[in-house]
Amino acid sequence: MQKKLQVEAIEQGSVIDHIPAHQGVKILKFFKFTQTNEKITIGLNLATKSGESKDLIKIENTFFNDKQANQLALFAPNATINQIKDFKVVNKFKVQLPSSFIDVLSCPNSNCISHNEPVQSRFYVKQKKTLKLKCHYCEKSFNRATFDELD
Ligand SMILES: [Zn+2]
Repeated sequence: MQKKLQVEAIEQGSVIDHIPAHQGVKILKFFKFTQTNEKITIGLNLATKSGESKDLIKIENTFFNDKQANQLALFAPNATINQIKDFKVVNKFKVQLPSSFIDVLSCPNSNCISHNEPVQSRFYVKQKKTLKLKCHYCEKSFNRATFDELD
């Protein structure tokens, strides 16, 4: 286990593994982990058996709820979350892509009414493999990458 995780063990917290390379930093920002005082260890561009590279995040004293695990799927659809207690993995689960994202993303369409009305943004997952999301308000569909360009 230790060898597989590639970075030092933590006593209590979460290990997010199998993050696609270059998404790790985005995840830190999205969940505002850059503002926490918890100890965080990140591995970027780690080698995997399949020859691709991945990112990995270890964060102490922090656990993901279901909503956060779903949001993680936006960045890392194949990620696994390991919950650590007393240096042991007590729970391990794969993130699940939800059928919709509410109040997470801002619509790339600048004419969309969601920007001018006091509403929560709402996107439906239209296509999973290369993630496509459809806005509830303007009904336009966008590739996942379109949202990144807005950052
Ligand atoms: Zn829209």
